[in-house]
Amino acid sequence: MKLFEYQAKELFGEHGIPIPASTLIGGISELNKAIEEIGLPCVLKAQVLQGGRGKAGLVKLVSTKEEANVEAERILKVTGKKLLVEGAVLFEKEMYLAITVDPISGSALVMACLEGGIEIEEIARTKPDRIIKEKVDTSWGLMPFQASNVMYALGLDKNQAAEGSKILLKLYNLFVKNDTELVEINPLMILKDGTMIAADGKVNIDDNALYKHSRYSMTRDHFKNDMEYEAAQDGIPYIQFDGDIGLMVAGAGLANVVYDLVSYYGGTVANYLEFGGPNYHKAHKCMKMMLDSKPKCILIATFGTIARADVMAQGIVDAVRELKPDIPIVAVIRGTGEEEAQELLKSVGLNPLNDTEEAVKKAVELAGGGSQ
Ligand code: GDP
Ligand code: MN
Repeated sequence: MKLFEYQAKELFGEHGIPIPASTLIGGISELNKAIEEIGLPCVLKAQVLQGGRGKAGLVKLVSTKEEANVEAERILKVTGKKLLVEGAVLFEKEMYLAITVDPISGSALVMACLEGGIEIEEIARTKPDRIIKEKVDTSWGLMPFQASNVMYALGLDKNQAAEGSKILLKLYNLFVKNDTELVEINPLMILKDGTMIAADGKVNIDDNALYKHSRYSMTRDHFKNDMEYEAAQDGIPYIQFDGDIGLMVAGAGLANVVYDLVSYYGGTVANYLEFGGPNYHKAHKCMKMMLDSKPKCILIATFGTIARADVMAQGIVDAVRELKPDIPIVAVIRGTGEEEAQELLKSVGLNPLNDTEEAVKKAVELAGGGSQ
């Protein structure tokens, strides 16, 4: 789960990482009061979960009340979300500082760069050597000497390195305590006097650990569209694309393969949802969502292991009886209990196939696409 910037900064504050003064507002009527509290110049920051707000005009430095009103109104209109009114910072340099999980080494990975700010992706692409990396064995935790190594490798002087190390150690503490997959400060602004202040913040909490962090809950704002939000209420992974074929697939790995096969045979994917694993008894709900999203054709592909194919099939059968879909459905349902599953599907007029590739070809054809 991604936290909003204002939530990330609240955590920074709790962990002793310096942040600018700020006030969160829900609408334009609260702006003048917020400006009185924060003062001018200030920065207006859209509280959306996408990065790159600066480039998209969703972070705006303003120096008068009039300008603030015009810009706040514009940003609120574009996003429809909350707005953070934050004290502007007079900075010398922008540092990028992040900790993430390195899946290959199974360690935490610190990344830092003195050319932070809105062009960090470009730096990562064109000058990757400017990004200093330090692996952290999580059973030991981040050692103070490692934090210093990172700061000196960036070329900071003694005072700045001491300040940067302190902040990095606090950030590591936050990273561990909150079961995060990523914490990022970009920019960590370096001021003339060598002090530093976190002007932006990203914190992603591992969804599997959310039960330990009850202060956070997923809201509609965390999802790109209503369908993804609705699916998440039932714990169903759902991704919206813009093609023709709806994929009801047992799991993420199989979904990747099926997606690639659809593309290979010249078709396009409308959306994808997962009804295997813990969701194998939710076929009915999944089918309803699929039909609501109005693809040209539905492709059901499973390979049941612990998730029994016959239980999934029963859900599909119930859904077909009740919802009477008026679009073609292609099914390839295999794995534990497949004979029974196939019989069940036949009972509602479906003609289950045995081969995934064959099923994909048929779905592409029924959706009116296909090039090979
Ligand atoms: P992002 O584009 O979504 O990453 O939003 P940021 O909060 O990082 O803001 C984008 C950029 O605005 C920063 O990288 C700064 O270069 C610039 N900026 C200029 N003055 C300020 C300031 O006082 N505060 C903040 N937050 N950003 C500023
Ligand atoms: Mn940023």
